[in-house]
Amino acid sequence: MQTYTLSAPAKINLDLEIIGDRPDGYHELVMILQSVALSDRLTLRPNGLEGFRLSCAHREVPTDDTNIAYRAAELMAAQFPQHFANFGGVDIDIEKNIPVAAGLAGGSSNGAAVLVGLDLIWNLGLTKSQLRDLGARLGSDVPFCIEGGTVIATGRGERLAPITPMESVPVILAKYDNLAVSTAWAYQTYRQRFGDTYKNFAETGKPKSAHSVPLVNAIFEKDLARIAGLLHNDLEKVVLPEYPRVANLLSGLKRAGGTASMMSGSGPTVFTLCESEEQARTIIEEVRNQIQDPHLQFWLTHLSNQGITIVN
Ligand code: ATP
Repeated sequence: MQTYTLSAPAKINLDLEIIGDRPDGYHELVMILQSVALSDRLTLRPNGLEGFRLSCAHREVPTDDTNIAYRAAELMAAQFPQHFANFGGVDIDIEKNIPVAAGLAGGSSNGAAVLVGLDLIWNLGLTKSQLRDLGARLGSDVPFCIEGGTVIATGRGERLAPITPMESVPVILAKYDNLAVSTAWAYQTYRQRFGDTYKNFAETGKPKSAHSVPLVNAIFEKDLARIAGLLHNDLEKVVLPEYPRVANLLSGLKRAGGTASMMSGSGPTVFTLCESEEQARTIIEEVRNQIQDPHLQFWLTHLSNQGITIVN
């Protein structure tokens, strides 16, 4: 049986709007999700055993059954017991390049890669839509991670509508390596502080998104100046006041000329879309001069239209 290596990209949010409460306890969301080229690599090697083993050299990534990649393997084994019995388990190795707990869906992308990889190794022949349905059971971002590209995501984030992809645009990701924000904390705090602003949408059953339509148009026209003015993330309202270093980093990027800057997901990563790599390098240099903190890290990558892909 073949060993597969898969590329599992990170994502950023170009739009994140919380527009209602859901009966399942989650929020009703409207998001525009965008893949970036920065990716983890997962190798799935058939081990001939009745189980899965996982390795990852990154010290913040669990290697037990709390790892979402491991949970993805267990989900596949439970769904396809006959194939699991016939083909056996796999050893999963994660080469972690995406910063952890950063609002970049690194874990979700790893889970998505295991679903795609086991589909190949076990010869299941699942469709993308079947893979996305399985992914939704692992986490709200997993279906998008399978799909990739530029996508409007609604519901908990699992209902996807692809739009004109924005490829090749250089993007800076910036983050303090000693700062993490809990996604659950960010959403719960948003509900506590701003729940009354969207409750009636849930009651009338007519949730509204204020930002996604103009942003989709600007993306269609590839108009970076308009995109800059339309980027929107509701979670900034709770994360930025609580984490002034993130707020300061974001304003530093804007001051350095990165007008298309925003926090991704629940943070703490912030990103800047750039006109060129040269502009991106100038911005990074200027922010490094403004904020002299050894824990501040930058990645210069670009937008991509790829979800999970097979490397070999
Ligand atoms: P989200 O998918 O909600 O956007 P995120 O990008 O903010 O998540 P992740 O990097 O996915 O954050 O990690 C969140 C937590 O999940 C980590 O602190 C880690 O303990 C745990 N975790 C479980 N599996 C993984 C994985 N494969 N990669 C990274 N973290 C993982």
